[in-house]
Amino acid sequence: MLAAAGALAVAAASFAAGRMGRVVEPIAKATSEKVAEPVPKTGMDPARTLKSPAFQSPPAPTPSVAAAAPSNSFHSFPGAEWTGEAPALRTQTCPGNRAALGISRVVEIDTAGGPGFGFEQFKAHDFLEAGEVVLTFDDGPWPGNTPAVLAALAAQCVKATFFPIGKHATWHPEILKQVVAQGHTVGSHTWSHVDLSKKSMADAQDEIERGISAVAISAGRPLAPFFRFPALRHTSELTAYLGQRNIGIFSADLDSFDFKIKKPDQVVLSVMTKLKRLGKGIILMHDFQKSTATGLPEILVQLKVNGYKVVQLKPKDTVATLPEYDAAMAKAQAGQTVDARPTETVVRTISGYAN
Ligand SMILES: [Zn+2]
Repeated sequence: MLAAAGALAVAAASFAAGRMGRVVEPIAKATSEKVAEPVPKTGMDPARTLKSPAFQSPPAPTPSVAAAAPSNSFHSFPGAEWTGEAPALRTQTCPGNRAALGISRVVEIDTAGGPGFGFEQFKAHDFLEAGEVVLTFDDGPWPGNTPAVLAALAAQCVKATFFPIGKHATWHPEILKQVVAQGHTVGSHTWSHVDLSKKSMADAQDEIERGISAVAISAGRPLAPFFRFPALRHTSELTAYLGQRNIGIFSADLDSFDFKIKKPDQVVLSVMTKLKRLGKGIILMHDFQKSTATGLPEILVQLKVNGYKVVQLKPKDTVATLPEYDAAMAKAQAGQTVDARPTETVVRTISGYAN
């Protein structure tokens, strides 16, 4: 049973790899660590083409919400129907916690040439299989909310991709370092979250580069070459610029609109309702938002209960920052002095007292 399941998983992965070429490569799949399969349920939505017992439709939303959302308000993924043949093996990131959601697949993204992802705007690379989701969080790091998001992700053994704002990273580098330390993927989201489509090319490039350098310096390590436009507002000139910089552009398949929703249970409903309609996708949330920080544990529970699988994104390479921006951001962080010595050479303990 397991051997057959493994063969199917490899076949599915080979198919995915062949289809995607070199942009997205699976670099890790199911391990021998196997979690309990979701118990098949009756009452599947007959409109769905998903057939696997491992994939269950989420609970039906309340009629008022379902009725309020027109069926054509989201894109669909023709040809991406779940065949129901691949087994639900999972790569557990914390062995021993078999009840957790976990990671089902890790993919490596080659951002050479600046590929775009997320069908709201970019349709060239449809790399998710039916039932698969990618968790993304924007606008952090932020006290309280980002640590709550990290705790929720850790409790379910899942990894996400973060798009921090440069200014916020500069204000709260210790929180961003927690994001890095917990193994999440970190890209960037400009310096100050302005609408780049309304800026001159020079000013927009400055926002992008200052953001990358500020987040990288605050993180204390090189970033993923992943970028998300504020409010997803891009221009062809800026996507071309990011292409030259070999930075991948991440839109979304599914926007939680959590920044407009104050009640956590409404964020849960927003995500799960849209996900049920799409069947898969890159989910845009905000670790900056308290509604998401509070609602995320329930979102992850519902993903698990309904058989969704979390895909982790990893970059093939790190982003190359521009030296002039690194210097400017480092100087700004240090408080405008020209001092560049490490703190341990500036401040040294010469005596200590035990209490
Ligand atoms: Zn944002």
